[in-house]
Amino acid sequence: MNDSQKPRNLTVDGWPANRPTSSVSESDRAAGIEVTGNFSRFSQRNDMFNRSRWDDVVDGSKAKSFFRSHTRPKPRRGDGFQQRDFALRNASWVVADTYANRGMKEGRREGFLDPLEPFFPVAEMRPEAVAPEVMSRQIKRIAKLFGADLVGICEYDERWSYADRFDFQNKGTRPNELPPGLVHCIVLGYQMDKTLVDAYPSALASTAAGKEYSHEAGSLMQISQYIRNLGFEALANMNDTALAIPYAVKAGLGEYGRNQMAITEEFGPRVRFSKIFTDLPLAHDAPKRFGVTEFCEICRRCAESCPPQAIPTGPPSEHGPNRSAISGVVKWTADCEKCFDYWVKLSSDCGICMRVCPYNKDFSRPIFRLYRRLMGTRLRGLMLRLDKALGFGARRKPKDWWDDAEAAGE
Ligand code: SF4
Ligand code: SF4
Repeated sequence: MNDSQKPRNLTVDGWPANRPTSSVSESDRAAGIEVTGNFSRFSQRNDMFNRSRWDDVVDGSKAKSFFRSHTRPKPRRGDGFQQRDFALRNASWVVADTYANRGMKEGRREGFLDPLEPFFPVAEMRPEAVAPEVMSRQIKRIAKLFGADLVGICEYDERWSYADRFDFQNKGTRPNELPPGLVHCIVLGYQMDKTLVDAYPSALASTAAGKEYSHEAGSLMQISQYIRNLGFEALANMNDTALAIPYAVKAGLGEYGRNQMAITEEFGPRVRFSKIFTDLPLAHDAPKRFGVTEFCEICRRCAESCPPQAIPTGPPSEHGPNRSAISGVVKWTADCEKCFDYWVKLSSDCGICMRVCPYNKDFSRPIFRLYRRLMGTRLRGLMLRLDKALGFGARRKPKDWWDDAEAAGE
């Protein structure tokens, strides 16, 4: 075992007690991340979904009907909320739900509160070591083979791990302990279907989210198993264990936007992220900037389009509106209480702030790649006006999505 393969204590002296190491400060700066002395790690118990199970501020019975709609929906007449829409959405979640439910008796909710349980143990043999740069290239190739659309690698950063895990049985907390030595983070991005995202808000559009949750659950199991088969540890996590967005930004996959998403060059905000923590020696990627912060400073389309006005219109702040916000990170922070309340009213998640974002474009087309490039220049104001004038971000009728599929003979 060489030095880079040896487990080490993950807690840097005094960190995360508000004293970033100089290397952390440097890479934070490059990523546009600003952490203040008021920083404290986020408790998973304060996540909005978990609060709906214990916090009186959230109407628990209404929240229950939201969760119930994923197994026993109550279709309505409105376009996008009919039986076929809920049928498709709920089918899209089935794989992720299967992983989430398989450890319920032992108190686990894999992918949401707990990491995905490995299928096979770590192999006892390791192949001949290769340079971390070579291994990173190989892992990216394998990750794409197993369905990831984006892959980046950065260092493990304890600040983004939940301070504790939510215990859904007693509504309290339990420790969020990781095996030692997992010093690297592989960040995976899974693009969401644009034709569905454009139909937000609707149960139909929510299929885009469920499909990628299910997709990433299977894909993460395969990628992490490959690493374990090489004789290294790999902890695959989706929404559980740690925040994903700071890792996506650090690994060079996207820039942080006003709508609280990591906006990618390839797919804009239409991406689901997950992580694998590992001790496999890997080289890291650098954060990448392409003008999102500057564009968000002049654009407020997500905030103006948000029905419950949950997205801030002002500058980034280190103070969030309520306990569902991490403290001590200077950023745009949505009011998750208002947002979740709106989801509950819909019986479905809402992605209007994803749909209307000027970065929600098909960048496989050269014209939109040029468009994106100009959004990152001093012409950004003009591009924003153009975006509005050309009607980008308008809602696609869910009925049209069904009709188009039929017309195409799909
Ligand atoms: S998901 Fe919908 S309700 Fe929530 S912040 Fe975005 S636009 Fe607002
Ligand atoms: S809609 Fe505008 S302000 Fe909101 S995230 Fe997208 S670019 Fe930024």
